Amino acid sequence: MRAARLMLRLLIVAVAAAASARIVDRLAPAAAWPALSPLLSGCSALARRSASWLAAAGLPLLVLALLRGRWFCRRLCPTGILLTGLGRLGRRPTGFLRRVPVLGPALCLAMIGGALAGLPLFLALDPLSLFSGFFSLWRAEHWRWTALLPGAGLILLGIASVIWPCLWCERLCPLGACQALLGRAGRALRVRPAADQNGSAPCDPAS
Ligand code: SF4
Repeated sequence: MRAARLMLRLLIVAVAAAASARIVDRLAPAAAWPALSPLLSGCSALARRSASWLAAAGLPLLVLALLRGRWFCRRLCPTGILLTGLGRLGRRPTGFLRRVPVLGPALCLAMIGGALAGLPLFLALDPLSLFSGFFSLWRAEHWRWTALLPGAGLILLGIASVIWPCLWCERLCPLGACQALLGRAGRALRVRPAADQNGSAPCDPAS
């Protein structure tokens, strides 16, 4: 069972990486998969004051978060899978996290507030965008140091995860916080009965 779960997680990371790197030209539109993040697609559409099919791409995850809180975090997020795996290399106990403030909700609300004001603030901090930015490096035609910038965020997060496991997912990620907030809203609206709606980040020791 553990092996099957590991294989599934590796498959998710591989598929997301292949889509980001556009290794198959015919499937180039799949490189837009980060639009599945309702935070990214919704804030982009709000900031531009225009809706497109990309804005609608975030709706399934938005509904899922309303119904199941952070279910996507626990099972499908390739960034979370990658960072959690790197965090296990560090083997540092997660107790230190209690001393770190939870900034994810503030980041999430800043992104939404910025978008309402017409500013695409912090959108590059969406974890799906960070993941895609790193693997899209392989598409760069001319290698200059500036080509490394889109991937720098995930590289820094990877290093931080080895040193401070779970820091990003538990404390900083705006998409994780967005799902938790939607999960709470879903409970308040009685979309589902109250049990286990927020869920937890993939770093939850119980996961
Ligand atoms: S907290 Fe963010 S990076 Fe971590 S699994 Fe959830 S969405 Fe992905």
